[in-house]
Amino acid sequence: EVRVRFAPSPTGNLHVGGARTALFNYLFARSKGGKFVLRIEDTDLERSTRESEEAVLQDLTWLGLDWDEGPGVSGDYGPYRQSERNSLYKQYAEKLLESGHVYRCFCSTEELEKMKEIAKLKQLPPVYTGKWATATDGEVQEELAKGTPYTYRFRVPKEGSLKISDLIRGELLTLLNSVMKVSWNLDTLGDFVIMRSNGQPVYNFCVTVDDATMAISHVIRAEEHLPNTLRQALIYKALGFSMPYFAHVSLILAPDRSKLSKRHGATSVGQYREMGYLPQAMVNYLALLGWGDGTENEFFTLEQLVEKFSIDRVNKSGAVFDSTKLRWMNGQHLRALPSEKLTKLIGERWKGTGILTESDGPFVDEAIQLLKDGIELVTDSDKALSNLLSYPLHTTLTSSECKAVIEDKLSEVAASLLAAYDGGEILGALEEGSAGWQKWVKSFGKAQKRKGKSLFMPLRVLLTGKLHGPDMGASMILLHKAGTLGVVAPQAG
Ligand code: GLU
Repeated sequence: EVRVRFAPSPTGNLHVGGARTALFNYLFARSKGGKFVLRIEDTDLERSTRESEEAVLQDLTWLGLDWDEGPGVSGDYGPYRQSERNSLYKQYAEKLLESGHVYRCFCSTEELEKMKEIAKLKQLPPVYTGKWATATDGEVQEELAKGTPYTYRFRVPKEGSLKISDLIRGELLTLLNSVMKVSWNLDTLGDFVIMRSNGQPVYNFCVTVDDATMAISHVIRAEEHLPNTLRQALIYKALGFSMPYFAHVSLILAPDRSKLSKRHGATSVGQYREMGYLPQAMVNYLALLGWGDGTENEFFTLEQLVEKFSIDRVNKSGAVFDSTKLRWMNGQHLRALPSEKLTKLIGERWKGTGILTESDGPFVDEAIQLLKDGIELVTDSDKALSNLLSYPLHTTLTSSECKAVIEDKLSEVAASLLAAYDGGEILGALEEGSAGWQKWVKSFGKAQKRKGKSLFMPLRVLLTGKLHGPDMGASMILLHKAGTLGVVAPQAG
């Protein structure tokens, strides 16, 4: 049975990298008919908070990544918070002590520091070289009797190598469909602590005990955990557990290919939610960070992702986080919403921000239909609407681009247009709606001996003050309607 887990440490907000890891786990579980487990890794008691845990759960829920077992959802493998699993860690630590895979280390902090210094001087890896790996039972009993504090230290086998199966990493890309091997040299790894002298189990140990006792079949996580995997694999072996498959997903990079961080802008899921991004767009974009279905298609709903996802197609090189593309993608998903939903979303926003004082239904509908192509975020709709409502009809052109368009001979058009406007001709045409407007444009063009771009471009510039925008006829009609309805043009800016 496929069982995967997402194991956030509740020490901050859910980062886009964490969200992508959660998503890949979710997609893998759903596509295989397996289980998606959520485990809270709160062993770092000083940095872990309940607020942070709640924020992470809220973000996952917002993204639509529901879990089958974990906080708030009961399961057979709980509890699902590491802080509630201490007795289990203790039990397995004792087991390892009994089997000799672990020994008690009575070295003081000073002694350990000294070992490190010596190793550094000799340019050797900072591995444990203390005597407790080989101490006699008598020596141990003596320290115990004195009450000297001790840690549980894992005895790393002095020779051999260990093969770990990773579904993403490996030297040969042609082997992507099969299980990959990653191997390390064990000499560089010293005996490591699995339980501190205060009885606190160490991170790598907890993760292994949890993954094994929660029957996790595939560990899909960030590449930065690759060095931990070796220690974890040794613990698996020592405890006699069979190892899961691993899949280490590459880092998310900033456009300059450095590690993505706060200085590159918004990096947490919550920030994007607050900026008005849709969860559908976020999920779609995150999936594309290191995965694709092999076609040109980039638009996927969560259901489609479940259908298409396969771990073989996850790329092992770093993926660049491009916030412009995410914004674009949000526009795609916004326009894919059922029109009632879009109208509700934008209409409520307009009312909420006071941008619309008249909440006439048909007006809102028409405005949204007209403006939606130019919108990527719901918040863009404010500016789009105020732009429309502040079309000058005729304009004192300031932008040099616009000026260029009407320079020279176009001033004739301007004069005639003004005359048509002042004489009520244009308003009359707008009154008759689309057909009236088109008829007027045609006759105006005829009189001016202009058609196509040479007619529409100056008209647009003169009427709207802009070079580009939504359909001009529809805009003018809507604007006229807004005028008669008493929709107030808000102050620009
Ligand atoms: N708690 C770890 C983190 O937040 C994840 C560990 C794992 O997935 O093995 O990065």
